[in-house]
Amino acid sequence: MPFRSLGLNAAILQAVQETGYTEPTPIQSAAIPLVLLRRDLIGIAQTGTGKTAAFTLPILSILAEAPAPGIRALVIAPTRELVVQIEENVRAYAKHLQLSMATIYGGVSEKPQIKALEHGVDIVIATPGRLLDIIRGREKSFAGIEFLVLDEADRMLDMGFVPAIRQIVKLLPRKRQTLFFSATLSREIEKLTGEFLQEPETVEIGRRSNPADTVSQSVYEIPQHLKPGMLLHLLQDPKFNMVLVFTRTKHGADRIARRLEQAKITSATIHSNRSQNQRLRALNEFREGKIRVLVATDIAARGIDVDGISHVVNYDFPPHHEDYVHRIGRTGRAKAVGEAVSFVSREDDDALRALERFTRRGIPRVKAEGFDYTAPAPPRDPNGGRRPPRRPGEVRTPRPNFQRGNRQERSAEGTQSKDRGDGKSEVSQGGHRQSRSRGRSDGKPRNIAMNGEPGKTAGGPAKKGGIGRFLGFGRR
Ligand code: AMP
Repeated sequence: MPFRSLGLNAAILQAVQETGYTEPTPIQSAAIPLVLLRRDLIGIAQTGTGKTAAFTLPILSILAEAPAPGIRALVIAPTRELVVQIEENVRAYAKHLQLSMATIYGGVSEKPQIKALEHGVDIVIATPGRLLDIIRGREKSFAGIEFLVLDEADRMLDMGFVPAIRQIVKLLPRKRQTLFFSATLSREIEKLTGEFLQEPETVEIGRRSNPADTVSQSVYEIPQHLKPGMLLHLLQDPKFNMVLVFTRTKHGADRIARRLEQAKITSATIHSNRSQNQRLRALNEFREGKIRVLVATDIAARGIDVDGISHVVNYDFPPHHEDYVHRIGRTGRAKAVGEAVSFVSREDDDALRALERFTRRGIPRVKAEGFDYTAPAPPRDPNGGRRPPRRPGEVRTPRPNFQRGNRQERSAEGTQSKDRGDGKSEVSQGGHRQSRSRGRSDGKPRNIAMNGEPGKTAGGPAKKGGIGRFLGFGRR
């Protein structure tokens, strides 16, 4: 079916053609006519299926055909990366239209975001936490919303955004069209659709929660200590030319990046300790092929929309099968093929078996040719990777660890970080627990260099509890 038979506005068809798409993907063919018929929609589709255009194109088409003042469409997505990428898509498809848009997300000053809203835009693309901060007192600006899109709703549920979304939705007009996208359809997700949508149509692409069929998968069964060597071994193969590596923790991501640097392999990391600019720079360099390996944590990687990723490496196997599905969906996008390899140590056996039961598909176990599986584990560190106990009189400099972003987005990144309710959090890392205390002992804010970059200080006044609340001093 060609794009032109879907009923889209001519200026949008032209932009789509210029983007290089020749025909709609299945989710686009199914969803676009329903949205144009003004139906509420539940789209069950994994990332990489073309779902962004499936909701963006018909909304733009309707907005373009009947211009009206005020904010008319609100798209809510779980992470700032995803927000930025949806915006890029919207800009590309709307390039021949007179429509304006603004993005709203945490981790950067809210002033320009508020200014953009007050200036008046047609489309707002936002993460829930910052949007809720901004919308309060400006409810009137959102009173004319015609479209609400909830993208990656399952992820927003996992990240604890549902209460914020409920509050936002309460402030929107009841008479609106709601489009709801999720990779999975759990009972909880179904409950949410009942709350937010009216007589929705459901479009489901592919089997529920199954990894994209274009991705070939394999498992390397290796103990933890062989993982760095295995990654370097695999990277000797030039076929691994655009590689996305997933780790459980941000410290794990940094460690891998250091090993790669030592081996002269170009890489960058994205996780919540990196500033928005650092993350975007890393993504762009990866996209442009300036770096070969991007190392990411799950949350930071949510919005990665990069075509041509040759391999996804699950350096740490994800405990939840939804994460596995999302991770490997980063390769094999649209019509390309890709490979997902997972390093599985004994502790991951249960998670791997649960995934195989869930997808009803076994993942082949493979061996790397020429790799030394017999290398012994390094001797155990008596301090379990932590700094030895402080000697009497020893003065130590705390390691700054400033986490940016608004509170919810920050806590979301810390999926591995358990709040102990005493101002400290436990971070499970490499098999041992690390304790981080938040803030100075005297509770006063202080200027710190961010991410070890000399001269850069954490800018802007601290909100909600003071900056000290958000400082973590890692013990090393
Ligand atoms: P998404 O699932 O929205 O993240 O899209 C996945 C990728 O598919 C993106 O890189 C899009 O640019 C691309 N894409 C979307 N629609 C099409 C299409 N009709 N033909 C080819 N590629 C597409």
